[in-house]
Amino acid sequence: MNMETLYRSTRSDAAPITASQAILQGIAPDGGLYVPVNIPKLDMDFVNVKDFTYQEIAYKVMSLFFTDFTEEELKDCINKAYDSKFDTEEIAPLVQINDSYFLELFHGATIAFKDMALSILPHLMTTAARKNQIKNEIVILTATSGDTGKAALAGFADVPGTRIVVFYPKGGVSKVQERQMVTQKGENTHVVGITSNFDDCQSGVKALFCDEELKNELNQKGYQFSSANSINIGRLIPQVAYYVFSYMKLRAEGHLYPNEEMNVVVPTGNFGNILAAYIAKRMGTPIDKLICASNDNKVLYDFFNTGVYDKNREFILTCSPSMDILISSNLERLIFFLTGNDAQKNAALMQSLKETGKYEITDEMKAAAVEFVGEYATEAQTIETIADYFKKTGYVLDPHTAVAAFGYNEYLKATNDTKKTLIVSTASPYKFSDSVMKAIAPSVHSDDPFVLIDELSKASGVSIPKAIDEIKNAPVRHTKVASKEDMKEVVKEFLNI
Ligand SMILES: *Cc1c(COP(=O)(O)O)cnc(C)c1O
Repeated sequence: MNMETLYRSTRSDAAPITASQAILQGIAPDGGLYVPVNIPKLDMDFVNVKDFTYQEIAYKVMSLFFTDFTEEELKDCINKAYDSKFDTEEIAPLVQINDSYFLELFHGATIAFKDMALSILPHLMTTAARKNQIKNEIVILTATSGDTGKAALAGFADVPGTRIVVFYPKGGVSKVQERQMVTQKGENTHVVGITSNFDDCQSGVKALFCDEELKNELNQKGYQFSSANSINIGRLIPQVAYYVFSYMKLRAEGHLYPNEEMNVVVPTGNFGNILAAYIAKRMGTPIDKLICASNDNKVLYDFFNTGVYDKNREFILTCSPSMDILISSNLERLIFFLTGNDAQKNAALMQSLKETGKYEITDEMKAAAVEFVGEYATEAQTIETIADYFKKTGYVLDPHTAVAAFGYNEYLKATNDTKKTLIVSTASPYKFSDSVMKAIAPSVHSDDPFVLIDELSKASGVSIPKAIDEIKNAPVRHTKVASKEDMKEVVKEFLNI
């Protein structure tokens, strides 16, 4: 019988709650993030190392964290999430290049890593609602600058008991991203272009979440809002699974001997993915260094090198847009762990971040973060890395993965640490065909992303993923455009209230 895992806030010592309650709440009432009171240990010596599937490892990991879910409930969520939506039965395949292994997390519905968690979150959420006697339908509101919106739509589409409304800045997302969203199927989905920028979409959604009158009205009609953003533990914990899965697979295939440690490199924005690797390590997965790779928005690189987190700097638009972030919200969880689980200390640092845009950690906390290494790649280095890997190995990287690959090579040069290394590959190159073509076939130009996609397929010999084929010919289902002032009306209209 496993011990129960409960969740507490990073900002106060309020009583811990169950996993299902934390999934439903998303963020703690004091503004903190939920973390497990104790990180469970996983016995890595599985008897039949060769005979596991992704789903089995996912169950092993999640059953230790979501302890108030029954075995049947959790297996049902896992089976509904990791199915034929993925274009490979392996779910998260590894590709070996020398002593490094690219962990491809882009085989889901939207060909980017957010699918790994957003394909299961809707099922965890509806199960959690049932367990807590919530009769209301759950209405997900999301503002997106591109990737998250589509992954959330794909995850929630036609999941009974849920509806989802996604707001995106009209004209502020790429053509492929817009097409991905406006062709979304599912009677419970609603996509709205807002004639404003992403920040306005985001503030609009926050205002709706805080609107008490609207909340009451919804409740009377049998609805309640929830959020699918990356601070929900229902997104964080499923990501731990692929680190354990990779380790077990490298063991099973003889690339690692028992207890041999591997390094992990993660292209990082909000710090969710790399935090999952840290948790996998704390559970007992033999991981040594956690290499955090940033693009030109290198707040985290500076943080790991100086102990100062400072977001007061210019925001730079890069070719790895999902990492263009100056506030890495999941870092708060690491900060809390580094204080030795001291909510007051963490809350003070977060207050400083809010008031001054920066904070500095103590030498003791720095020492507690020894396993983290910060690296970063400039735009030119990112494009060169794509070109270089393609030329030498034929393997095509997307720009986010290229940032990680560059970081890995920098780390190798500086340390000669030749441990086997997992490089986390977060998007299909087809999602960023313009930057990728610039690197591998610079003479080809086109404004039409689908022309570039065809050219990329010819140049690389990698077949076009079905997710791209589908959106190319799918009918547009969502045409609504509204101003930011109308967001509330749009939601009410969609829900018929
Ligand atoms: C979201 C995203 C990232 C960053 O992941 P975090 O968990 O926010 O650090 C990296 N690459 C891609 C393609 C993404 O979509």
